[in-house]
Amino acid sequence: ENVLNLLRPLIGKKEIWLVNSISDDMPAITADPNRMQQILLNLVGNAIKFTHSGKIEISARTDNRFAEITISDTGIGISEDKFDIIFESFEQADGSTAREYGGTGLGLAITKTLVELHGGSIRVESEPGKGSRFTFTCPISEEKADKNRIIGEIRHIPYTDINHEQSLPSADFPVSAAKIMI
Ligand code: ADP
Repeated sequence: ENVLNLLRPLIGKKEIWLVNSISDDMPAITADPNRMQQILLNLVGNAIKFTHSGKIEISARTDNRFAEITISDTGIGISEDKFDIIFESFEQADGSTAREYGGTGLGLAITKTLVELHGGSIRVESEPGKGSRFTFTCPISEEKADKNRIIGEIRHIPYTDINHEQSLPSADFPVSAAKIMI
């Protein structure tokens, strides 16, 4: 929910339905909460970036001792010959992607590393023009989820509260006084 709330503003004017279908009886997983958030931010962020309209859904199921989490979209899709290469650093599905959608080609490489460091794996199924499904696995916890113990929760700032006009510097802002740290 945190990830969806954080990313919802990126939909902008696109007609995208963002759905969390993870049921409440899903068992807890063993993971670093911040890194899990980073994995989800990347996968859902990509889904929003590469989808013009339709539905983006997060769902989860269990498979033995693992949870399988899937992020599906109805976006531009990826051709099968690119399924491996997109998980490599600085690689994008095709040369025009960077020009049209921006990005560094690093997100999926980092995501794959983080998933594997948790003992899981990640795969993609996709059809160009129809959409993509990214599925990663993560070990299920022996312990029960305790909502009071969740750390690093991000406060949801409703984006209607953000006044873009006010937060931008005025036209006579001295540019030399600005420092942007990335
Ligand atoms: P970036 O998004 O910064 O380019 P990523 O490593 O996150 O880098 O993704 C690599 C490439 O994989 C993207 O440039 C894009 O071509 C493809 N891709 C990733 N997610 C999707 C998606 N949901 N739909 C279509 N293409 C995707």
